[in-house]
Amino acid sequence: MGEIIDGRAIARQLDEETAALVAELTAAGRGPPGLAVILVGDDPASDVYVSHKVKASARLGVRSFEHRLPATTSQDDLLALIERLNNDPEVHGILCQVPLPKHIDARLVLEAIRPEKDVDGFHPMNAGRLMTGTGGIPACTPLGCMKLLASVVPDPAGLDALVIGRSNIVGKPVALMLLAASCTVTIAHSRTRDLPAIARRSDIIVAAIGIPRFVKGDWVKPGAVVIDVGINRLMGEDGKERLVGDVAFDEVQHAKAVTPVPGGVGPMTIACLLHNTVHAAKASFESASG
Ligand code: NAP
Repeated sequence: MGEIIDGRAIARQLDEETAALVAELTAAGRGPPGLAVILVGDDPASDVYVSHKVKASARLGVRSFEHRLPATTSQDDLLALIERLNNDPEVHGILCQVPLPKHIDARLVLEAIRPEKDVDGFHPMNAGRLMTGTGGIPACTPLGCMKLLASVVPDPAGLDALVIGRSNIVGKPVALMLLAASCTVTIAHSRTRDLPAIARRSDIIVAAIGIPRFVKGDWVKPGAVVIDVGINRLMGEDGKERLVGDVAFDEVQHAKAVTPVPGGVGPMTIACLLHNTVHAAKASFESASG
């Protein structure tokens, strides 16, 4: 049986590093890092995510500024709030929870956030920096995937990596990070031919599809590492909702290591968000002091 990568434990370790950096900044007389979280509307899943982010901020000593706005908020009002937060020296990270109501252009909103405060790493400037290997703020979930991978394969250079999914928030950035780590990367999507055959020759599989148990056991070669990004809500026979990933977890016991759902990539996303926020604060303090 392969190793089950404990995302919760690795997230806790990252949280400790983040909290230590907060303490260091505070001891140096630099105010607490600040994270502004914007939620427009009352989508229940988004509400839960935002609450988790606010709680995690408090736990690590990051000051959070919550902006819960009604679903009827106009695009102009939202853009005006972002502009205010862009100019607020106590705010080092800004996150606008998606999805946004239909009358708001999400692209316009995400691009309005100053790249130095874009702690989700979604701004085209940060995406471009990732592509060109010139720094920037990395997207949280892909960064979390890389840290989980590093816990079992410290140097993946030369390995064949398959990313299934090509979204801007997971598939594409994680593929670029694997490339930066010198993997030979294949990106698969809904038009890919003979995906099982490509998967079978891969040393690393990152599954970011959104289809429960899509990756089957016989797609995974013995000794491969499988990172399951998927979060799918299924109704159990007991009438209770449960989370499953994009990988048939019980079929991949011959893998070298696999992330569970829940308890794998999910906890890393928030830990990486706070890591990004505190590093953004550090960069801002450093640029302010010249
Ligand atoms: P997305 O934007 O819907 O992208 C899904 C990708 O899967 C697309 O590129 C799509 O291909 C591909 N795909 C769909 N059907 C396929 C098939 N039959 N064969 C191969 N590829 C197929 O989703 P996302 O935002 O990247 O999220 C993916 C999953 O990760 C979801 O379950 C989401 O909930 C989860 N997620 C988890 C976290 C976390 O913190 N753990 C964060 C973000 C997302 P096309 O481009 O050709 O349509």
